[in-house]
Amino acid sequence: MSKIIVLMGAPGAGKGTQARLLQQRMGLPQISTGDMFRALLKTETPLAGEVRPILASGQLVPDELTIRIVRDRTGREDCGEGYILDGFPRTTVQAEMLEQIASEQGHHVIAILVDVPFDVLEKRLTGRRTCPVCGEIYNVYFKPPAREGFCDVHPEVHLAQRADDNAETIKTRLMTYQRDTQPLLDYYDATDRLRRADGTREPEAIYADIEQAVTGEP
Ligand code: AMP
Repeated sequence: MSKIIVLMGAPGAGKGTQARLLQQRMGLPQISTGDMFRALLKTETPLAGEVRPILASGQLVPDELTIRIVRDRTGREDCGEGYILDGFPRTTVQAEMLEQIASEQGHHVIAILVDVPFDVLEKRLTGRRTCPVCGEIYNVYFKPPAREGFCDVHPEVHLAQRADDNAETIKTRLMTYQRDTQPLLDYYDATDRLRRADGTREPEAIYADIEQAVTGEP
């Protein structure tokens, strides 16, 4: 049966890096609600105006809007063989809606926790830099680019720092994760659909665990 691979984990755990590897190697589309909201902010529409302060503060966008964009995106043809969710679901309501969406689409949900202790996350988030062209993720502490401030693949492109990767917003995002999203781990565990990968290791080692969890499933 085709799968929806839900990547779970706190902000900074490395979900985005793993989602990109899964996309490249398994050929399934990566759907990141965070990326979709950041793209929305560039449109200067009234909706962007509503969502901007929410992202800036590190709180969650209302479920109704979030579910709508996920439903629309995952209804497209490229999601027919399954897809990877990065950053969704984040609340119980979203998880319940995902069950419904999955059953309508004929997919089976598997959740994978990329597990990283809280004290490591802060440095991961403050050090994170991204290439605005190819989306490659760097870290000034853990994975610096060859030339400081520039992408390895696009040497002329300045790396960007996400607006919400600042100390105050990071605190809110981590608190929000603990309060709203962590309970979902029990939800998937209780139905035997949760797998865990130690997210403190190199991306390739984490990927190997995830791949095994995904391909080992019926
Ligand atoms: P991320 O890139 O996943 O860290 O998401 C960045 C921001 O987008 C979050 O701090 C939220 O404000 C918003 N966001 C992303 N995904 C969701 C979601 N599933 N539900 C609500 N808000 C979200």
